[in-house]
Amino acid sequence: MTQTIVIKIGTSSLTRPETGNLALSTIASLVETLSNLRQKGYQVILVSSGAVGVGCGRLNLTQRPKNINLKQAIAAVGQGRLIRVYDDLFNHLGQPIAQILLTRRDLMERSCYVNASNTFNALLELGVIPIVNENDTVATEELKFGDNDTLSALVASLVEADWLFLLTDVDKLYSADPRVVPSATPIDLVNSEEFANLQVDVTNSATGWGTGGMITKLRAAKIASSAGVTTVITNGKNPDNIFKILAGEAIGTKFEAQPKTENARKRWIANGLVSMGKISLDNGAVKALYSGKSLLAAGITKIEGEFSTSEAVNLVDFQGKEIGKGIVNYNYQELTKIQGKNSADIVNILGYYGSGTVIHRDNLVVFD
Ligand code: GLU
Repeated sequence: MTQTIVIKIGTSSLTRPETGNLALSTIASLVETLSNLRQKGYQVILVSSGAVGVGCGRLNLTQRPKNINLKQAIAAVGQGRLIRVYDDLFNHLGQPIAQILLTRRDLMERSCYVNASNTFNALLELGVIPIVNENDTVATEELKFGDNDTLSALVASLVEADWLFLLTDVDKLYSADPRVVPSATPIDLVNSEEFANLQVDVTNSATGWGTGGMITKLRAAKIASSAGVTTVITNGKNPDNIFKILAGEAIGTKFEAQPKTENARKRWIANGLVSMGKISLDNGAVKALYSGKSLLAAGITKIEGEFSTSEAVNLVDFQGKEIGKGIVNYNYQELTKIQGKNSADIVNILGYYGSGTVIHRDNLVVFD
């Protein structure tokens, strides 16, 4: 079976922190590694940041602007140049590439999600390496992936990748930032049971740990590993370590994959949709969901968020632990009236017949 690998590299690995210039040797080594992976028969997707950083360099700006419109304009300048650098380098090795710019919105509509997945598959079958970034120029603040760690995890889930490599400026995950806390201990392997209890102090991780830092890397590792993708956090300075990791060497931090969700619609609900609210459930409802049943109004104890019908919401148990996500058949105002009530009473309360279920089991994902 052909294996699909998603590799994410961030601005902190792609540019030199002192000057903001491109780290050409790192990029060249990355390009060589990815081309070699292709030649060995792997399907490869690169998620690359750098649009804003490269745009700043081109416009001789010494600081990343805070103003959103300016940042979006600068990304438009930088993205073209970034792709040009990649295309020039990959071209030397005869490796075709493609540019894919995504926004969060593109994955929310089921038909767009399926379409994006088909396009990725067509490119991979053509032997092309798609290079993905957020479409920073048009993405709106409320609906942004926000960081490319999350974007890469969602892409890995979308294409049902086998591996996700998050290349960064530290060699692995530590119990705290080793540059600030010298006694921090390295973490080599995290299995799915350990993930929930992982003790990592990320409070200092914003200092020099790239745009997203360890918090977003951990979040990405969670999304990807629960979608069945083995995820590795490792240093971006040595991209050829990817081969060693694929061969079984313990380099970086590896997050073991959970079994893949075979149902494509459920994968979309879990990873494509943005949650617009939260519904708390009593124990009976939690048990019913775990045994494969739909969510009924009777088991709902609390509603948060102003969501509409057909939007996604998170489901939590009485302790606030997230247990699932689903698409609701009622908006938040209707649900506030019918929460805790029997389905048979809904017509009297609302004055009209609605769905018998609040979330039908086909539109529901229950987490392990
Ligand atoms: N999309 C942004 C860029 O290309 C980067 C986001 C990130 O670094 O996570 O500049």
